[in-house]
Order: sequence, then structure tokens, then C-alpha cells
Amino acid sequence: MASENKHVYVFGQSRTDGDAKMKNLLGGKGANLAEMCRLGIRVPSGFTISTEVCTVYTKQGLDAVKELIRAEVTQGIAFIEGEMGKRFGNADDPLLLSVRSGARASMPGMMDTILNLGLNDEAVAGLAAKSGNERFAWDSYRRFVQMYGDVVMGLKPVSKEEHDPFEVIIDAVKHQKGVALDTELETADLKELVNRFKGLIRARVGREFPTDPWEQLWGSVMAVFQSWNNERAQVYRELNDIPESWGTAVNVQAMVFGNLGSHSGTGVAFTRDAATGEDLFNGEFLINAQGEDVVAGIRTPQQITLEGSRRWAELAVIGEDERRAKYPSLEELMPDIYKQLIEAETKLERHYADMQDIEFTIQEGRLWMLQTRNGKRTGAAMVRIAMDMLRQGLIDEKEALRRVNPERLNELLHPVFDPAAMKKARSIAHGLPASPGAATGQIVFFADEAEEWVRKGRRVVLVRQETSPEDLRGMSVAQGILTARGGMTSHAAVVARGMGKCCVSGAGAVHVNYSARTMTIGSETFKEGEWISLNGSTGDVYLGQVPTKEAELTGDFGALMELADKYKRLGVRANADTPADAKAARGFGATGIGLCRTEHMFFEGDRIRAVREMILADDLPGRRRALAKLLPMQRGDFEGLFREMSGLPVTIRLLDPPLHEFVPHDEANQQIMAEEMNVPLGVIKLRVDDLHEFNPMMGHRGCRLGITYPEITEMQTRAIIEAALNMRKQGHDVKAEIMIPLVGTVREFNAQANVIRQTAAAVFQERGEEIAYMIGTMIETPRAALIADSIGAQAEFFSFGTNDLTQMTMGFSRDDAGKFLPHYIKGGIYERDPFQSIDQKGVGLLVKMAVEKGRSVRPKLKVGVCGEHGGDPASVVFFHGCGLDYVSCSPFRVPIARLAAAQAAVDGGK
Ligand code: PEP
Ligand code: MG
Repeated sequence: MASENKHVYVFGQSRTDGDAKMKNLLGGKGANLAEMCRLGIRVPSGFTISTEVCTVYTKQGLDAVKELIRAEVTQGIAFIEGEMGKRFGNADDPLLLSVRSGARASMPGMMDTILNLGLNDEAVAGLAAKSGNERFAWDSYRRFVQMYGDVVMGLKPVSKEEHDPFEVIIDAVKHQKGVALDTELETADLKELVNRFKGLIRARVGREFPTDPWEQLWGSVMAVFQSWNNERAQVYRELNDIPESWGTAVNVQAMVFGNLGSHSGTGVAFTRDAATGEDLFNGEFLINAQGEDVVAGIRTPQQITLEGSRRWAELAVIGEDERRAKYPSLEELMPDIYKQLIEAETKLERHYADMQDIEFTIQEGRLWMLQTRNGKRTGAAMVRIAMDMLRQGLIDEKEALRRVNPERLNELLHPVFDPAAMKKARSIAHGLPASPGAATGQIVFFADEAEEWVRKGRRVVLVRQETSPEDLRGMSVAQGILTARGGMTSHAAVVARGMGKCCVSGAGAVHVNYSARTMTIGSETFKEGEWISLNGSTGDVYLGQVPTKEAELTGDFGALMELADKYKRLGVRANADTPADAKAARGFGATGIGLCRTEHMFFEGDRIRAVREMILADDLPGRRRALAKLLPMQRGDFEGLFREMSGLPVTIRLLDPPLHEFVPHDEANQQIMAEEMNVPLGVIKLRVDDLHEFNPMMGHRGCRLGITYPEITEMQTRAIIEAALNMRKQGHDVKAEIMIPLVGTVREFNAQANVIRQTAAAVFQERGEEIAYMIGTMIETPRAALIADSIGAQAEFFSFGTNDLTQMTMGFSRDDAGKFLPHYIKGGIYERDPFQSIDQKGVGLLVKMAVEKGRSVRPKLKVGVCGEHGGDPASVVFFHGCGLDYVSCSPFRVPIARLAAAQAAVDGGK
């Protein structure tokens, strides 16, 4: 347990202080290392310095940390020495350590790691003698000097075009020797590298590389704490909503070596497929390699399972003989180790009841586990894994619902390439299907330029030799990512899957030339700015823009949605203005239309002309003539909606926006309008000037329009009622709900409701038949919320217009807040954009209160929400708690809202 004085937690064979539940204190990695020890899985011994110490480091600095934990660290080292039978700083047989970060939430590759710590000129000789492998000892040493120089001493490239200065030296030595691979370098070359690296450090940093192991240890621990605040970690936290205050833990652990020769190696594996969710153990390894080599994407890794290896070879167009000879699977190469690995992964997946992402090292025929964590996955994999685990009895229905982040369903709703178009498209390269999706964009080679281009409204595909954590922001704005190097577990692949971003990795035929800003495939060269398309599900790269088609709710996605419906209480409707939207919404499971913004229908084709005629008319008969032209069109629109939504409620809102939105504001278009309307330009100008308002959002809009021009409300009501009768005649079950916008007083509501009732009665009279309909109102002014009991006595339903309610309650415009809101959010004044996620304490309180007041006079009052918040998972959970009947959102967010509603029901709206 955490105690005030305990900051260091050991794990090993003889004693383990922590466990998996202690993530907040030990970070994910530390907690899981402890848990693996408890499960009897072989893990190199070590200790975890708690996240609380990171906070001390940030606030009080290095000396305070040393003071605080020196004695515990000394004991921790003694513990590792006891477990491993080696002494730290003993030059004859040195105990070597790794120092790694580990935050509460996994932040792959964002913070720093040091391996082989404890080596110096004496210890390297001891390691060589003890292992009987001089090359290995020097390879470890040169890696350590390189990592320490980079991470602790800060020797990094100074510009984006500059290559890593250590890699430049390696390339020079390789060139001198005439070899291509790191593994071809001999001991003498590695000694030369160490020498040159030290020289580089001396020249650039102005200090010597430290030889004292304790100095190395403290330097590394502090560097890891420091890396919590490096730029890429900050960006990652920003993108993933991870608070700065969490801090990182530091794991100090005995080294095991995957670079001890052909019976050693290192790998990364997933207990299920992180891209598709398929229940297939998979992963990659490299023989005679250490730690980061697999994820760095520098060597082509081999597959762990035979099945995976065969699939990989097929994609890479490599024949079976070549595969077996050059790239055999671990299953074929080391069957015993493979068996142990299967046992460990099975045990871990069952124990955590979730897909695990594991790291392991094989040291001279012995398997060591270095890490396990819940694996990052695509939205599709999230759904499939949850549903498979439910069927396999590993989790129950409620847990299956919790396992899917509603926002991630977005990825499954995105369009996919149209198969017919794909057949015709020209494939220019092929890589690994690292993260599914369909991406089309212009080639860009640098992450910062990707951001710049996207800011200018372009769509880009980021093309890199390989990606690094610095590229995070550029990756997040790109449509997709293409890399020439790296496997399924490379940085690009892992991060892209985490983001749900389409990625094709390891397209070996692609050669990137950063300085020329070109990519060459075979004899063809493609320039920055050219269009390409990526299919992240097949690994194909196409030239140009390949057309896409809509996604469908099938298979596990459909099953998850059914499960969500079984638990949710809230209805989920859609905001839809056209029959096509209504159809899509129904396909996504909408249980009605919560908002039809009729004004959207006024812009199409001839209608805008009739609308403008109405606006120009300076008397009632003129307006009525123009409205009569609109009537049949509007009736047709509503007929389409009622037809598509047969059996389900359709809420139609009366005209809402200020009329100036329907007239042109530039002279050229005013001239066109003048010609069309056959009136002088001056008349148009005068009318446009007339319509000008200083603050149109608070001006002549909403029910204020219907009150000043009741003939508009009459026309719209007539269109709705006639359409309802017509559709009923065709056998449809029509449930029309007429909604009055922007009400602030009961009299406004009553005035409009009277016009609606009278018009409907007139239509019934003419047609000799009647149909039931409802009259309700939006609650979108603070006053309406405050007097919701009086309004509720009159209105048959409420629908919260939380867009307007937010802007009016906060006192800032939804159209202008972009100028300062980002600063507010960055500065922590608001946690989230209140136009995206409801401000629960303020605006939310009005919603809650209005529901209570409304129901106090009309207990069965139907209440929904139709602002953007209806599709935001956190807001949906809040609305569930307020007792709303339904949320309404754009068709594509319907499945997201359905799942969020189910999660709210399962966890009681918490
Ligand atoms: C609202 O204000 O929340 C709303 C749904 O109406 P609109 O966005 O059309 O103003
Ligand atoms: Mg509104």
C-alpha cells in the first residue's frame, strides 16, 4: 500500500510490493510488472519509483528528489543484486540496468528509456569476459553511450533536416567498412563507435560521458522524470486528455539481453489482432537484437506465429521457400520458447480479461517478460474484441458495453473505398495493413508541414521513412500515414491504431528523399502535393483520389448496438433535414427525427428564389404569393421525411434563422438577384440594409419571425399537416411534432400555437379528415428554462436547443468563440469546449431545472435535446441523469449516442 514514506516498490521472485491495482502510484508498467511477478511469470527483478516522486521533481527539482529517495534506491539496488546474483558497479561481472518511464495511462514512445546502464570502459571488459562474447559487450556499450548521450545529455539533431548525429557516425563507419547492416559491424568497429560517440559528446555537450554507474543511474532517473514534460509527451497528453499532474513513475530493472547471439532475441506481441480484433496471437521479433530495435522499424522483423508469418509473406509477395529460409517464425525457429510464450500470453489475457500488448526478451534460450498492458487498438478491433470476449465468457454484457469507447465508433462509420473504384485504381505500392481505414490526401513529408497544410484546409497523407514520437501532431491531422520502414508494431503502426488513423507501414518499395521532397517507387517519382490513397485494411497504396462509399452497421458492430439497445433507457433520434439523411439515420438505429431544421430546405434550387420574393415583398399579399410557391415544395419535403420515418416521431421546427441569411451580401450576387427578381439593384441593396442587425443571433429570428409574419407559420403548418394526411393515405404511420423555436415567454408560445392550431383545423376542415399531431417548443433561451413550468403547462414537449442555450447562458457567441475558446481550454479555464460537451454545472443546471419544472406541471412531458451535445458521449451520460426521454444528434453520431446511453444506464449515469 502507499504510505507517506514509501516511494520505491520492489518486484521480483522473493518479494513484490505492488500489484496491478496500483497504477496511479506505480504507473501502468510498474503495476503490471508487479502483477506478473505475482502471477509467477518470469520478469527481471527491479523496482518502481512512484509517480509522486515525479511531482516532487517537477515542483522542487533534482536535489529534493535525491534527498527523498536516496536510501530507498540504495536498498532497491541491493534487492536487485540479491535476486540476480550480480553487483552494481562490479567491473568483473556488472549488474546492468534498464531505466524506463511508465505513466498511469500508456504513452507509447513518448518518454525516455535507457538500456545497459552501468557500463564503462572497465565493466565492458568484465561483461565481455563473463559472457564470452566481446562483440555483444561492445554492442551493448555503444548502445548505452548513444542512448545516454541522446536522452540524458541532450545530444539531438538541431534541425528537422539534420539526421541523428549518432546515426551519422554509424553510417560513416559502415560505409568505411563497406557493410550495410549493424549486425555486420565487428568488435573493433563497435569500439571505434564508442570512441567517436564519446568524442561527439565532448565536442557538442562540453562534458565527458560519465563513467560512475551511480552517476549514470541518477542522471537516467532524472531524465525520465524530465521527459514527462518534453514536448511530445505534452502533445500526447493534450490529444488524449491526460492530466499533467499524474506524473510518470520510473522503473529500474535488471537487464536481460536479446543481443547475445543467435539464441537470443526480442519481440513485441498482441494477444489478439490490434487492427482487426481477430482472436489471433500475433507479433514480431528480431533475433540478436535489443529492446527498441523491433519498434524502431530499422530492421524488418519476423513474425511470431507460423500463421502470421505466412500471411505476412503473402502480403510482402515472398514465396514460401524464401520465407522459411530468411524469415522463419518463432514458432518454427524456437518451438520451446514459442510454447512458453503462448502459455504466458494466455495466462495474461485470461487474468486481465483484455487484449494484452506484451514485450519479451529471449536471453540464450530463456524467456523473460518485460511488459504487459491492455493493448491499444482500432475502433473496429475494440468492438470485435469486446463481442468475442463476451461470447467466450471472459466478460459479461455490461463489461462488453464499457469496453468500447463510443467516440471510437466514428472509425467504423467512416466511408470505405468503393470496391468498384478500387478495382479501377492504380496500385503503386504495397505495405503492411497497419491500421484500417480509407485515406486520401496530398503527399507531405514533414509532420509540421502536415499541420500547416491542414490548417490551410488541405487533406494530407503523411509519408515518412519511419515515424517518431515527434511526428505525433502531424500524424493526428493527416488523413493517413504511409511509412517505408517498420512492421506492424512500429511506432507509426501502434500510434496510428491508437488514433484510429489509417496507416500503411513498411512499404519497402517506397524510397523517401526528404531533401528533394519526393518519394520514388521503382522508376517513378512522386512529388510533395501529389494525391495518393491508402487502404489501411489491405496495405495498398493507390495513385490519385479513390472514391469512397458509406459504411454499414453489420456483424459485431450491429450486435454491439443491439446490446446497447437492450440496456439503454434514452431514445436516440437524429437531426435530419432531408429524406436521405432520415434514411441514413434510420439505418444507424435512430428512433425518430428530433430536429428538422426547415430553413435548410429553403436554399435548394428554385426555393431560394421564392424565399427571396417573400423577403422582398413589402405587403402581406406579396408575401402570401411567394409563400404559396413554397408550399408544395415544403410539403414534398415533409412527405419524404414522414415516409422514411414511418412509425417513428418526426419533430419539425418552424423557420428559425434571421432572414438576412437568405439574401446575398456582395454586390455581384445582389446584381444577379436583381436581374432574377426583375427589380433595380438599389431595391435589393435597401432591403439587405434593412435586414442588417448588429447582433443577428439575438435579433429577429426564431418565433419572433412567426410572430411578425404569421403567414410563414401558416404555410409551414399547412405543409406539415397536408403531408401527414397524404402519407397516412399511403399507409404510413405518421407522428408529426411541430416545434416552435427560441421561445422566451408563454405568450410567444401561445401566439404561435394558436396559428398552428387554426391552420391545422382549416386543413382538417378542407380535407374532411383529421390526424393527431403535437405542438412543443425548444428550450434554448435561459428565460424559457427559468419559466419552464409555465411553458410546460402549454407545450406538449420540450427539446433543449443546447447550442443556443449555451451561447446565451455563457454570454458568448457560438460563431465567434473560436477566437478565445482555444486559449481558455489550453489555459485550463474550461476543461472542454462548452459547445461540444455540455457545461454541466451551469447550462446543465438549467436543463435539469427546466425538466423538473416542466414535469411538475405535466408529469408525462416528453423531453429531448437536439443541440450538438446530443451526440457527445459525456453529455449523453449527463442527459440520462437529468431524466430526458431522448437525445437527438446528426445521423453519423446515432450509434455513438446509443452506446453512450447504454453506458450511462449500466453505470447509473456516473
Ligand atoms: C440549438 O440551438 O441547440 C439548436 C438545435 O438549434 P440551432 O442549432 O439550429 O440554433
Ligand atoms: Mg437554436
